[in-house]
Amino acid sequence: MILVTGGAGYIGSHCALRLMESGEDVMVFDSMELGTRHALDVLAREFPDRFKGFVQGDLKDRGSIASVFRGRDIEAVVHFAAYSQVAESMRDPRRYYENNVGGTMNLLGAMADAGVGMIVFSSTAATYGEPEYTPIDEVHPQHPINPYGATKLMAERMMSDYGRYGIRSARLRYFNVAGADPEGRLGECHDPETHLIPNVLKTAGTGREFSMFGTDYDTRDGTCVRDYIDVNDLAEAHLLALRYLREGGASDCFNLGTNGGSTVREVFGVCQKVVGEPIPVRECPRREGDPAVLVADNRKAKSVLGWSPRSTLEDSVSRAWAWERSRR
Ligand code: UDP
Repeated sequence: MILVTGGAGYIGSHCALRLMESGEDVMVFDSMELGTRHALDVLAREFPDRFKGFVQGDLKDRGSIASVFRGRDIEAVVHFAAYSQVAESMRDPRRYYENNVGGTMNLLGAMADAGVGMIVFSSTAATYGEPEYTPIDEVHPQHPINPYGATKLMAERMMSDYGRYGIRSARLRYFNVAGADPEGRLGECHDPETHLIPNVLKTAGTGREFSMFGTDYDTRDGTCVRDYIDVNDLAEAHLLALRYLREGGASDCFNLGTNGGSTVREVFGVCQKVVGEPIPVRECPRREGDPAVLVADNRKAKSVLGWSPRSTLEDSVSRAWAWERSRR
């Protein structure tokens, strides 16, 4: 059985679904601070035999996570549970260190005690900080510029050091995750929402304006370039990383992106096309801490894990739009 921490959240739930689709048994551990009951209901409904249940608990509580491993046959952990908002991490770093670093420490300790030797970890391009070159490969220096990125980097380091206790890790560094389940069962629900695509789609048809942050960057149209990776392709990468570890693969890190990028204006254009009507836009000053270009070199994930992203940006936006409409 695979333990998915944060399995009631956006990326965790898509991944739990994909794992079960591929025949894995899954158990979810989630505090439900950010996760949704809806996601758990979908997992239980779609795979009543493979969904081995849900434990509500907080990784900051050492006893709570340690008890999950007792008496259960857990082969590996896929670890999503974390806070992930950059701006919030700058306002309240302690919250991030306690949860993302402290929580991961408790999880790894419990794994070591229980003799569980494989973890696939949800890391981020934010561990690289301001790009020194682009596209970013895995040997690019890691100098995070905000507490969120710093906590994820610390968790990565801890994980490699815990190799000493027999834990092998695949650390997956996501670029910009987007989209929703193609069958409309799951999608993104953050509150507050800070991400580009859901923010554009949320304004569609409401009469409100979408705020476009920064139009004076040194890029092809003045707006920031990001590498948008579809959440279903991302889920697939976790499955492949699990198989890689199962086959004896050594601890390693992998960038998950498309090797390409879209500007904010281009994404906005795709959103308008999918929605089928003009969306009012207001050009605003730059948002603090946004680098001009963040694009992944994904060749390592392709060659080592055999992964390749399949969805286009338009696929991701169409599914995100279907999800958004279903919630109105
Ligand atoms: N962005 C924007 N308006 C929004 C949200 C985001 O213009 O309401 C821009 C943001 O400044 C950045 C890009 O969209 O250039 C991607 O931002 P997002 O928060 O989705 O991801 P990030 O790259 O910050 O992780």
